[in-house]
Amino acid sequence: MSLTELDRVGARIVSCVRCPRLVAWRTDVAAQAPDRYSGQAYWARPVPGFGDPAARIFVLGLATAAHGGNRTGRAFTGNPTASLLMRALHRAGLADRPVSDHAGDGLRLHRTWLASAVRCAPPANRPTPAERDNCLPYLSAEVAALDDLRVLVCLGGFAWRAALHWAGVRPKPAFAHGGEHRLGSGLVLLGSYHPSPRNVHTGLLTEPMLDEVFAQACGLAGFT
Ligand code: SF4
Repeated sequence: MSLTELDRVGARIVSCVRCPRLVAWRTDVAAQAPDRYSGQAYWARPVPGFGDPAARIFVLGLATAAHGGNRTGRAFTGNPTASLLMRALHRAGLADRPVSDHAGDGLRLHRTWLASAVRCAPPANRPTPAERDNCLPYLSAEVAALDDLRVLVCLGGFAWRAALHWAGVRPKPAFAHGGEHRLGSGLVLLGSYHPSPRNVHTGLLTEPMLDEVFAQACGLAGFT
């Protein structure tokens, strides 16, 4: 489908009020901005996917970050996770720069789409199963609008299980960094540890490990 269809999906996402707890939290958290962001106007709405309408690789996160996407209005933008991810995408040739600071920074992705399973910021970064289920139709809508999609990179166990739940896979294969599961549609789910600062600081995930996953994704997408 065209960019116009993605725009229509994005407009539906941005106006969504399906989850009362998250509708309240996405604005409440803006009033609790840390000092480094105090005085900034927060987006405080759901965040649609962002990237290249010709994407073959869809990178799926857990949920919108309270002071990342919920502040800047763009997925994986303006927080340490975004920095780690964008450096990796840039090294893989999937982003035109290694930083994702704000929605007007001109960042362009190559054959890649970014979104989270839950499009609003949840308290403690923990959406409920009902909130996840409320939001998964937007994953369906974006996947349907991305005609050439080949790979869904799931950042962390939540995104992996959400994608399997969305696809109706039973029983669910266990999450593993670098683990693959091919859906009947041909779309391949690919697991990666979430590029959170905590996972990097504890050594669970290194930048070379992230590079290996994106090299694997590029191979599955037919880029190498
Ligand atoms: S989490 Fe998703 S379904 Fe729930 S209010 Fe936000 S956009 Fe709507």
